[in-house]
Amino acid sequence: MILGSGCAGNTAAIYAARANLKPLVVIGHEPGGQLSLTTLVENFPGFPDGIDGPELVENMKKQAENFGAEYIYGTANEADLSKRPFRINVDGEWHETRTLIIASGASARWLGLPNEQKLIGHGVSSCATCDGAFYRDRKIMVIGGGDSAMEEATFLTRFGSEVTLVHRRDQFRASKIMLDRARHNPKIKFLTNTIVDDVYDASKLLVTGVKLQDVLTGRQWDQAVDGFFVAIGHIPNTKPFAGQIDLDPDGYIISKGGARTNVTGVFHAGDVQDRSYRQAVTAAGAGCMAAIEAERFLEAEGH
Ligand code: NAP
Repeated sequence: MILGSGCAGNTAAIYAARANLKPLVVIGHEPGGQLSLTTLVENFPGFPDGIDGPELVENMKKQAENFGAEYIYGTANEADLSKRPFRINVDGEWHETRTLIIASGASARWLGLPNEQKLIGHGVSSCATCDGAFYRDRKIMVIGGGDSAMEEATFLTRFGSEVTLVHRRDQFRASKIMLDRARHNPKIKFLTNTIVDDVYDASKLLVTGVKLQDVLTGRQWDQAVDGFFVAIGHIPNTKPFAGQIDLDPDGYIISKGGARTNVTGVFHAGDVQDRSYRQAVTAAGAGCMAAIEAERFLEAEGH
């Protein structure tokens, strides 16, 4: 079984199916993963003119299905990894598997603004590496006060005419070095003690501005913006494995080398373990590694 249908899960499915392992892929609560939330992907090798994220991930799924992978809708919400076969509960139904690849990803944390979800892929983004290049000479806003926000704001100065970093406090979680780098960048303007009340304009299906609020005075104002990057952290989808798979304090799987977890026969792939690179191509590579390790594991057992 493979949990997740993003780049990692689909690539694992291509390799596993081609090796005749008959993988069952659980699509998960975000079909297609993070790529399904983006528009043009310009940095996936092999597509000189770019390719739409949803199309790329759908192509991967078709490719896996051509080799015999089976996909089921649903989300794994419970697991018993204490003995073999492993048991996975998908929306109330238990499935058994000899080996498991966890490619359930990490979901971007969003602000929960009234119009935020409607504008994802139309100016609202959670990935500067993916979408920054669309905002050349445009006004960009980044939300957050951690390392991700500093990294994204600094990266986005390559493209934007100006980058405004909005943070709800005046203390930062970001490491000193990354904060200093952002502070010394003349293109980045800091707006602290400020929250976003909404992002516009859902009726045009395009980001044109935001409503901001000073948390100390309650003053609200509108500001024009073209690209709105939310960098307030990710939540790895590992809930069903807590207490069974070794996780770090934020819930990411701790790798035991290659694609291995602490449970023999359970492998990881993609953002569920990787908090550092988070790219479609690295997730695809990790999915390939996990499938090869699963194949070798089953072969050693004589299956
Ligand atoms: P993070 O450190 O948890 O920071 C999240 C930030 O978002 C915090 O400043 C938080 O504000 C803010 N935030 C959370 N929910 C919010 C909300 N609803 N509204 C407004 N603001 C909100 O997350 P991260 O920056 O993604 O980093 C995660 C981990 O990856 C960290 O360990 C980080 O060091 C690491 N990382 C490292 C690098 C690097 O070294 N190159 C790059 C990226 C990430 P408060 O501070 O007020 O809670």
